[in-house]
Amino acid sequence: MQRYRFLEKPMSHPVYPHLLAPLDLGFTTLKNRVVMGSMHTGLEDRFFHYGKLAEYFRARAKGGVGLIVTGGISPSRQGWLLPFGGTMNSVGDIHNHKRLTSAVHEEGGKIVMQILHAGRYGYQPFVVSASAIKSPISPFKPRALSESGIQSTIAAYARCAELAQRADYDGVEIMGSEGYLLNQFLSPRTNRRQDQWGGSIENRMRLALEIVRRMRAAVGERFIIMYRLSLLDLVEGGNTGAEVVAVAQALEQAGVTLINTGVGWHEARIPTIVTSVPRGAFREATARLKRAVKIPVIASNRINTPEVAEQILAEGDADMVSMARPFLADPEFVLKAQQNRADEINTCIGCNQACLDHTFKRQRATCLVNPQACHETELVYRRTVKARRVAVIGAGPAGLSAATVAAERGHQVTLFEAAAQIGGQFNIAMQIPGKEEFSETIRYFHHRLKRTGVALQLNQRVSREQLAALGFDDVIVATGVTPRNLRMPGIDHPMVLSYLDVLQRKAPVGKRVAVIGAGGIGFDLCEFLLHDAHVPLPVPIAEWMDEWGVDPLAVESGGLRPAATVVPVREIHLLQRKQSKVGAGLGKTSGWVHRSVMQRNGVQMLAGVDYQRIDDQGLHVSVGGVDRLLAVDNVVICAGQESLHDLIPAEAIAPGKPGEAVKTMAQQTGLRYHVIGGASFASELDAKRAIREGAELAAAL
Ligand code: FAD
Ligand code: NAP
Ligand code: SF4
Repeated sequence: MQRYRFLEKPMSHPVYPHLLAPLDLGFTTLKNRVVMGSMHTGLEDRFFHYGKLAEYFRARAKGGVGLIVTGGISPSRQGWLLPFGGTMNSVGDIHNHKRLTSAVHEEGGKIVMQILHAGRYGYQPFVVSASAIKSPISPFKPRALSESGIQSTIAAYARCAELAQRADYDGVEIMGSEGYLLNQFLSPRTNRRQDQWGGSIENRMRLALEIVRRMRAAVGERFIIMYRLSLLDLVEGGNTGAEVVAVAQALEQAGVTLINTGVGWHEARIPTIVTSVPRGAFREATARLKRAVKIPVIASNRINTPEVAEQILAEGDADMVSMARPFLADPEFVLKAQQNRADEINTCIGCNQACLDHTFKRQRATCLVNPQACHETELVYRRTVKARRVAVIGAGPAGLSAATVAAERGHQVTLFEAAAQIGGQFNIAMQIPGKEEFSETIRYFHHRLKRTGVALQLNQRVSREQLAALGFDDVIVATGVTPRNLRMPGIDHPMVLSYLDVLQRKAPVGKRVAVIGAGGIGFDLCEFLLHDAHVPLPVPIAEWMDEWGVDPLAVESGGLRPAATVVPVREIHLLQRKQSKVGAGLGKTSGWVHRSVMQRNGVQMLAGVDYQRIDDQGLHVSVGGVDRLLAVDNVVICAGQESLHDLIPAEAIAPGKPGEAVKTMAQQTGLRYHVIGGASFASELDAKRAIREGAELAAAL
């Protein structure tokens, strides 16, 4: 058995002494306490993408992370998450994986391969589990594994680890959380077996322990075996805290090197990683586990800054921290912390829009704030050979992205912004409770403008005439959007407000409100109106736990307890004309959280609404042919936006997709005009598109 040595005198980095201290595992040393957690990018499922995947990992290893965990690789076809997903079950697989390990090792990093058997979460018809109980989030009912099926599963895990070792991985992570196969065996919710693999916790953990023992025997002592254990299942019938501790202690005995942690099964109806979850929310549960074992324990979930990570380590709640999405957002996270440039870190804002939402749609993952993520070989910012004079108009996400990429490439860039600060609509978004993180993106761009040498001119509303006179080679119009004006009788009534009146100009709003438009901004506006001004933002961890009914010590099964009763701050009607479910267009991984908050606060969500008029009585509507009066104090309009591009000749704007507009601009004027973000196309606009369009355009200038 290995001996673990915690270095008594951590390398004394002045700001992050614990985070940047090495960890000696007895047979190998990790250079710091930062783990890049496993993320399914979509690249690991096809061998022809392994070149791209290698460069994605190389960038993170070069950025200084102590240990990288790959996306989930199945030990067998039965364990596939998706049909033909990444598998490691034959020597033929070794070659591709060696591309990943050599890229990481060339940069001085270490990498472990995550072994993931999806069990009943697999999106394929051959799924197996502890018992034949279908999951609420998957269409396929699993078959209960037979005794011989269990034995071959154990053998498959051990063989998979052995092959990973031959592919030069530094170790493996066994995925035992988030509700996948090993969690399914561990929990009475999904394990109803009557044999030696079910019943008592000793029987339910037997599969995990057998796998670890068999694996350790196969790979020897000098190979990392990390086990990702579910700290809090957050589902009914999940394990208690005492059971989790018992499993951790048994895993330690069986030969596990490190215990990583996970929170919440995928079917849980409590958010665990979206922006509104407070930073470091689950550290108390990690601390409990750390006290119970001698091997290093890794904290995870909603840790996205070096400050939070350092604090968790310094206060002794964990030995390492795992961050996953923060490494999509910024591959140089660790390097910047080391160089005392933490202000320059591109912080993950927990939106899920380009990572998890993509994964659920079976698209390649990337990052809203970093469109290069998982596209390292495709979106390349090469130094220009011919510097151009570039004017960027509008310092919203699109303009900021374009200006900084163009300047990084060597162009001479001037950024004009009409307002007194950069950030565009992100300044409004960050007013929403739970979206405070959006301010981090503005902070990041603020520093990046300086570092890349962009000349920033605030309080400059540029006109068409000015632009023509200033002698630029290229003009990038990133002037964004303006709220859509509605036409209906009574729209000028004093009770009618726009979302900008409420969020930006802080207009007073009454207790009874109708919100016209149930898109992202309509939901956000409701969150804002439901927030009790006495509760500080961001919401403290203890209040958030009360609100969602989470017991971090999991005295009861699954870590659930009754949620606090909500007394709504306002009576709100959230309306849309479409017949579809209200909120259906929100992101897959965050929309349910918003809908759940609305339901808990008694918000009336109405679809199929025909707006008739507004008068002193309120808003008159017809729903399903029945006339109704919504007696409200205010009507707030959140009915989408229209592009703002009066800087460019109207006749030169092509209808259709954003790319078409860009081409037309270049062809029709002497000066090269380009139009991006909301200015180009307001419909289906989000910050992901705005930032990506800015970067792509600037990369091609
Ligand atoms: P904008 O952000 O509108 O920026 C345009 C900039 O141009 C502004 O700063 C403006 O002052 C400036 N400008 C205009 N005219 C001139 C001129 N003539 N001269 C100089 N400067 C000028 N998106 C998401 O993806 N996820 C979310 O969760 C999300 N939440 C949101 C919540 C709220 C409440 C709001 C309002 C928006 C939210 N959005 C969200 C939308 C997102 O902010 C926008 O899609 C994004 O900001 C569009 O970027 P842009 O650069 O095209 O335009
Ligand atoms: P949106 O998502 O397009 O929603 C606009 C809403 O207004 C819809 O509910 C629409 O529904 C309604 N509407 C449109 N035209 C109308 C009209 N003429 N009269 C009455 N109602 C009308 O736009 P948004 O809410 O303004 O958001 C802007 C962008 O920001 C979105 O694209 C979104 O991606 C992004 N955003 C994202 C989030 C997020 O959490 N991911 C949050 C905020 C914003 P009906 O047509 O059915 O009435
Ligand atoms: Fe973070 Fe959003 Fe990027 Fe995902 S898309 S990594 S949640 S910033």
